[in-house]
Amino acid sequence: MTERIHAPYSPSSSATWILCSFSARNAVPDPPKPKSTKEAADEGTRVHDLFEDFVKNDKAPDEDDSAAEAVERGVRFVRKLEPGELHTELQVQLSDECWGYVDLFNDAPYIVTVLDLKYGRWDVDAMHNMQLLSYCVMLLSMTNAEWFRLVIYQPRGLDEKPFKQWVAHRTQVEAHKVRMLQAIADRSPPKPGPHCRWCKAFQVCPVMNDDAAFLRAAMTRRIEDLSTHDLVRMLRLIRAFGDVKKAYEEALTVKLKLGQPAPDGAGLEASRSWRAWNDPVQAAMHLHSHYGFKGVKPPTPAQAEKLGPAGKQYAAVAAHQPPGELKARY
Ligand code: SF4
Repeated sequence: MTERIHAPYSPSSSATWILCSFSARNAVPDPPKPKSTKEAADEGTRVHDLFEDFVKNDKAPDEDDSAAEAVERGVRFVRKLEPGELHTELQVQLSDECWGYVDLFNDAPYIVTVLDLKYGRWDVDAMHNMQLLSYCVMLLSMTNAEWFRLVIYQPRGLDEKPFKQWVAHRTQVEAHKVRMLQAIADRSPPKPGPHCRWCKAFQVCPVMNDDAAFLRAAMTRRIEDLSTHDLVRMLRLIRAFGDVKKAYEEALTVKLKLGQPAPDGAGLEASRSWRAWNDPVQAAMHLHSHYGFKGVKPPTPAQAEKLGPAGKQYAAVAAHQPPGELKARY
């Protein structure tokens, strides 16, 4: 996959700019990212290439490739779709400022499929997925299909289901097109909300600038005197700093390792490490022989499913989803 220029109004960030168009018009070009994020993005690109090669040219990845199983599973899903014309990495466009690339599009007469391969672990849902809906909007002129199947294929995701699907009617896609066009034409001031978390204009947003000054003052007040509005303003900002903290820590470590001066007591020190089994399988067998089941921690239901059919069968009947704890969303 060659290096691509991202559209200002890109489908991948449409969940943010549909709610706050300022974010697309003012995105900063290269926001800080930790090394692990960059490495994961490179690996994602490599896996997309393998997937495309398999779908288009029937060329399977090498057996010992770490992504071989994931790619083959994705292709098996694609081969079972309705007969239609398959496109990979298809460039689609809504306007001069809004375009993108669809990982896979199956153009079948009654229901088309739009699939996005996600190689990260962060759980992404297909239902009302703004990125996929935005691709569907850009495909409207290429198909008369009444239904659109939106698929997220996430082989390494934290969610236990690798394929997440949602079927949208053509009228839902057309309604989304109206929302997209309204956002692209919108020149109103920034509109903060939970979507600020993934905003690419956070660093230049005037609302966040005000909140930064507010945060310093608010931290001198007693927590119980802060309103919910105050707390949300503070937490959005603290979360944003938390999201980039690792990138700055890595940069400082590199500079200190290069011998640059360490100001005010800063410096390098070994991080805490934990003992690990030389051979985890042998350790489990040994401890089980001495202490029975008490000595062995069972794998999680998701890990058990990956062990094989018996693990999958057992997880289906012996695992449950406990209710999640209520926590604040901001
Ligand atoms: S930080 Fe929030 S309010 Fe500011 S531009 Fe981004 S999405 Fe809009």
